[in-house]
Amino acid sequence: MAHVLVVEDDPFVRSALIRQLTDAAHTVRSVGTALEALREVAQIGFDLVILDLGLPDLDGREALKMLRGITDVPVIIATARDDEAEIVRLLNDGADDYLVKPFSAEHLSARMTAVLRRVRASGGRPGAPQDDELRVGGLCVDPLRRRARLDGIELDLTRREFDLLAFLAQRPGVVVPRKELLTRVWRQSYGDDQTIDVHLSWLRRKLGETAAKPRYLHTLRGVGVKLEAPR
Ligand code: CA
Repeated sequence: MAHVLVVEDDPFVRSALIRQLTDAAHTVRSVGTALEALREVAQIGFDLVILDLGLPDLDGREALKMLRGITDVPVIIATARDDEAEIVRLLNDGADDYLVKPFSAEHLSARMTAVLRRVRASGGRPGAPQDDELRVGGLCVDPLRRRARLDGIELDLTRREFDLLAFLAQRPGVVVPRKELLTRVWRQSYGDDQTIDVHLSWLRRKLGETAAKPRYLHTLRGVGVKLEAPR
């Protein structure tokens, strides 16, 4: 069983794919544009991405490059073009395999199994099942199961607190600007700083720390927020 992201703008192809994958006991999320796909993989650890090459917003090759810029998750390209030169380029750009449409459920399943086996055999990559948990010091965040533990103790987080923590845990030590938190975690293009501050203070309390004596969550005034293991 794998957690799969389907990136496909054609609603018919998309629902067929979702049906095939869920029938095979995989869990699936689906989006119709490359930008949505980038947002998804930045926030959730997938085992595999199935990427359609003909997306409305970005060229397939561009989309793959951008995906590769943020994640090592295995990518199977689904292409209507049986163009060998293009397929070779994509494999060189970091695709793990490809399927030429239309393909059968059996074919898809065989390719997926092979790709997942290869990735797992090579010791996994970030995002692969054995490596799902994000660890920052004594903090463990499991984006797949939406659970977080601090020093082995389960944290009771609201949805937003979890999203915020998981987002920061994916980039430990990196100062994330507030504006980025707002767009990536809250999915708003504008808003006031108070929204973030309030959630940060709740999250802080659950982590057993205060703004005056931070351990994991550090606010840099006027700059942003970072999550870092205590020294
Ligand atoms: Ca398409």
